[in-house]
Amino acid sequence: MTTTDLTSIAACSLDAGAAARRAADFRALLGPRLRRLRRDGASAVLDLEMGVRAERELAGLLELERECCPLWRFALTRRSPRRVRLEVAAEPPFGDALDAFLSLAGPHESGEPVLRAGEAARRAGVGVETLRYYERRGLLPRPQRRPSGQREYTLDAVRRLLAIKTAQRLGFTLAETKEILGVTRGSAPRDPAALRVQAEAKLAEVEDRIRGLELMRVELRAVIAAECEALIDCGCGDCPIDGPAHATPERLLQVTQ
Ligand SMILES: [Zn+2]
Repeated sequence: MTTTDLTSIAACSLDAGAAARRAADFRALLGPRLRRLRRDGASAVLDLEMGVRAERELAGLLELERECCPLWRFALTRRSPRRVRLEVAAEPPFGDALDAFLSLAGPHESGEPVLRAGEAARRAGVGVETLRYYERRGLLPRPQRRPSGQREYTLDAVRRLLAIKTAQRLGFTLAETKEILGVTRGSAPRDPAALRVQAEAKLAEVEDRIRGLELMRVELRAVIAAECEALIDCGCGDCPIDGPAHATPERLLQVTQ
């Protein structure tokens, strides 16, 4: 999502040059002042550190934006001498326009919205603790931090979290997932064959386990059918798990080792 999408989505009357200047004005005003961003569906709350002069400037820009794009609902309220809160909502189906607008508040030139840890985790359907754990294990790159220390996540982090969930569903361990994702402390290039190699190894492992489980099933059914009473000295008669047939020298040897 680029800033020019603001105009294409909203069928804005601004020409491309004016739209780019408008976006640049918003970016310059919001980017350095954003302290907190919460997004909830088609609306968002931005807490901004700004004095009265910047607030007036922002109010003017919001007014211009509302005039050319009626899809917006803006509410600007002063919370303290240094803080204002901007509530932004876009009329459905213009949720993407909100992404574009929020990108103006972030320091990321990619134009992607900046998410707090909780929001990134929520979008991926995991808990914040899980997100942090993956970070410590090196599955997610360390996030950028604001001067305040607050971590910033992008949609790329959300995509990675979703990829990790998929890998878990396929039975991959975190170490294997890390290898597949190609996430390392440096920036080693991703190996395009890694997933296939790992998937083949995992499939062989899963098939081994299935064979093992099938043997267990056969033996358990036999135990039930014979009405076994004990693992040794069973009194069921022709015991499938106890008795001379099972007490082979090899078995006895294994036990005494
Ligand atoms: Zn028995």
